[in-house]
Amino acid sequence: MKCYNCQTENKDTAKICKSCGADLMYVPWKPTWKWHLKVLGIIYVIVIVLFFVARFFLNKFDRNLPTWESEYPMYEKMAPKPINK
Ligand SMILES: [Zn+2]
Repeated sequence: MKCYNCQTENKDTAKICKSCGADLMYVPWKPTWKWHLKVLGIIYVIVIVLFFVARFFLNKFDRNLPTWESEYPMYEKMAPKPINK
């Protein structure tokens, strides 16, 4: 097996690298590009789902808000009418 630290070839039974003394029982975690793709894909899916969920709830909330016309119906009569020629 190769040492993760100095790339020296060691015996498979070796517990410590003969060159640098690194602990060969410890295997460092190296994420591959596939792992990145998977994680980024999951993050994108979560973000997109959250966007639609948030939009759904915000739309629901917006419909319950009073509009200008419902709160001030008297101003609608005062609004200038378009001139018909
Ligand atoms: Zn080494």
